[in-house]
Amino acid sequence: MTRIADTLFRNARLADGALAAIAVTDGAIAAIAPEAAAHDIGAASGVDLGGRLVVPGFVEGHIHLDTSFYGDAWRPYVPYTAGFDVRERVAIQHRNMAAAAPMAERARHQLDLCISNGSTRMRSHVMVDASVGLTSLQTIAAVREQYRDLIDIQLVAFPQSGLLTCPGTADLLDAAFDHGADLIGGLDPAAIDRDVKGHLDMVFGIAEKRGVGVDIHLHEADTMGIFTIEEIAARTRALGMQGRVTISHAYALGDIPADAVRRVADSLAASGVAILTTAPGARAFPPVAALRDAGVTVFGGNDNIRDSWSPYGDGDMLRRAMMIGHRSDFRTDAELGIAFEAVTTAGASALGLANYGLRVGARADFVTLRAAHIPEAVVAVPKGRSVYRGGVCIVRDDELIASPARA
Ligand SMILES: [Zn+2]
Repeated sequence: MTRIADTLFRNARLADGALAAIAVTDGAIAAIAPEAAAHDIGAASGVDLGGRLVVPGFVEGHIHLDTSFYGDAWRPYVPYTAGFDVRERVAIQHRNMAAAAPMAERARHQLDLCISNGSTRMRSHVMVDASVGLTSLQTIAAVREQYRDLIDIQLVAFPQSGLLTCPGTADLLDAAFDHGADLIGGLDPAAIDRDVKGHLDMVFGIAEKRGVGVDIHLHEADTMGIFTIEEIAARTRALGMQGRVTISHAYALGDIPADAVRRVADSLAASGVAILTTAPGARAFPPVAALRDAGVTVFGGNDNIRDSWSPYGDGDMLRRAMMIGHRSDFRTDAELGIAFEAVTTAGASALGLANYGLRVGARADFVTLRAAHIPEAVVAVPKGRSVYRGGVCIVRDDELIASPARA
């Protein structure tokens, strides 16, 4: 007997199909050994995983904890009056939010949903603007504290109503970093603020002053969106912020020809700017494989769940991987693996998570799946999952064992 672990997980099926024993000490993975060598590891307690596939906890890369109605009354989607218009949608959202259940209650329901599906890390955008001030951020930061033993949450101060066109927002965004925000957000610098330079000056100015990362919502289409993407990449390089900047949605990358994608992708890779995609319904979206081939980190998120923007979303990052694969026409095992990476390791890379993964030294956050291997998990999206956080079971067969929402 060479060592004493707190817990020894037996019969864990790894991605390559092999059965392994995983030793956990002080909440971290201390050893991963072939199952046949499990008897060499002493442990205070043991758990038999029964040959289930074991994967790292999922990374929910983009969600809105403040605006979901999940667990609240169903709110029928209100169509646009004249096509996609962010401002019209924001106005609808304000009306819906005024009639909704308390924000903390809705956020807890949404977190229970995400955790029970296997997410153990998350990045949530939270509205910070002149209409709501810092109230939403303070509410969600307090909920984050209640859930600290279940999930790690990064909060992005998100100027949902624009920055230059919503007076007072810049000061609020700066103050957000005294109230729990971790990153600075942005929104359609050209389409909403009609001033790409002015918008990015403010966003990157606050990022530099506060020493925080950037995650910008970019719905802008075609060449206008590409111009903004190139400006963001250039600023990221100029400020030495490689690895700390994300462009969420970046629809424009789905609107341009393949040779133009390659040129922009090389710039994004050289700048260390990550791309977040939800693999949206009928909208053209970034070509995941081409970006990844160029060295760009591409990761996934649910974005809206039962909110004013969409009735869809189920808090399941494994289903999101399936959707990314399905919409990308991924078929080979290698391609299905790319879809899976988008909700695990690529998400961890974009979020800058150092202690992530199914490896020695990482925190023992993992999910057990009823699948033989990762390609099957991506296409089948099996339920009956259990989730371990720091080696402690927090979800058994899809049921969150102790929710702060019920406390
Ligand atoms: Zn969003």
